[in-house]
Amino acid sequence: MTAFVEAASPHVMNTYGRVPIALTRGQGCRVWDVNGKAYLDGLGGIAVNTLGHNHPKLVPALQHQLTQLIHTSNYYHVPGQEALAAKLVELSGMQNVFFCNSGLEANEAAIKIARKFGVDKGIAKPEIVVYEKAFHGRSIATMSATGNPKIYSGFGPLVEGFVRVPVNDIAAIKQATEGNPNVVAVFFETIQGEGGINPMRADYLQQLRQLCDERDWLMMIDEVQCGVGRTGQWFAHQWAGIVPDVMPLAKGLGSGMPIGAVVAGPKAATVLKPGNHGSTFGGNPLAMRAGIETLRIMEEDGLLANAATVGAHLKATLERELGLLPGVKEVRGQGLMLGVELDRPCGVLIERAAGAGLLLSVTADSVIRLVPPLILTVAEADEIVALLKPLVQAFLAE
Ligand SMILES: *Cc1c(COP(=O)(O)O)cnc(C)c1O
Repeated sequence: MTAFVEAASPHVMNTYGRVPIALTRGQGCRVWDVNGKAYLDGLGGIAVNTLGHNHPKLVPALQHQLTQLIHTSNYYHVPGQEALAAKLVELSGMQNVFFCNSGLEANEAAIKIARKFGVDKGIAKPEIVVYEKAFHGRSIATMSATGNPKIYSGFGPLVEGFVRVPVNDIAAIKQATEGNPNVVAVFFETIQGEGGINPMRADYLQQLRQLCDERDWLMMIDEVQCGVGRTGQWFAHQWAGIVPDVMPLAKGLGSGMPIGAVVAGPKAATVLKPGNHGSTFGGNPLAMRAGIETLRIMEEDGLLANAATVGAHLKATLERELGLLPGVKEVRGQGLMLGVELDRPCGVLIERAAGAGLLLSVTADSVIRLVPPLILTVAEADEIVALLKPLVQAFLAE
């Protein structure tokens, strides 16, 4: 096979600054490119490939599903939806689920639920509290909820009805919403992903839960990236012992199959009525099978515990090997959602790491992000650090 270069995709719209490699095969936490070069997958398709690649239990289940049904329509009952929804309800302690195909779609549905929740109680112009550095997607509404001008610049006018506050500051949210009768919901990520791996503190989440209850606001937690076992709990907010009213999910839920879901608690479960919302592909039998099998295999193989222990090992190793280098500001995150913040923009490390045989990303300009498959072993975690350390050392010495 000939070497792949960037110019080999002239017909694909250029919306990504792509690393000039092309991947064709994967096994576990490793992938191979068209030239046969191997890479350790520290990115997992951006927190998507929960079970890694070519998982021996997932692939046969999906092959079987292909022979049964791929798609019908939401005009009919889809048994897989009931099965996956029941599991998500059990794991979350919430009430019911709407299915769609991606993170932004799940967040769009959440925003619609919040607005209708407000309108139903007589608030004509509902407003939703959102956060600095938040990322909720690239549709017009979810981009408007996002706290990063790089995402929304050039695409105005933005959707109105969002109030923005800083993270982890209960006084700031009280002040920003004081005397405003139109607030209906608070919408945030437990650990901001694209914003640079910024965790919400447990005590802040608990205070926020109380505030939402006092003011009859929906607590809507975007667990698209930090959910589905990544931090060592099914959902990252569970570390704080709280339960949200609305919880969008996507990325890791199908272990690579496109899927989105909005889980709703009692306050939000009956806001949407027949005809209020929908999706042609949402909840199709193939995606549902991927979700059901992903959660089943995670339980069977103990992947929550694995994410917690291997994640803690990876974080401690990163702290030990990189944390004290001048130029490294902080190692943060939980489970297998980790960031290493440098004191300068470090986007060049993405391609250099690929050159060294490691896939990772850089987010918020200066944060190296590791969100590998939840099947990562301690040996593979050590290999990530061994590959990364010389690259960071050389970069910081430039
Ligand atoms: C990735 C992401 C989204 C958007 O998901 P898409 O599937 O790309 O639309 C939304 N919220 C968070 C927290 C994300 O990480």
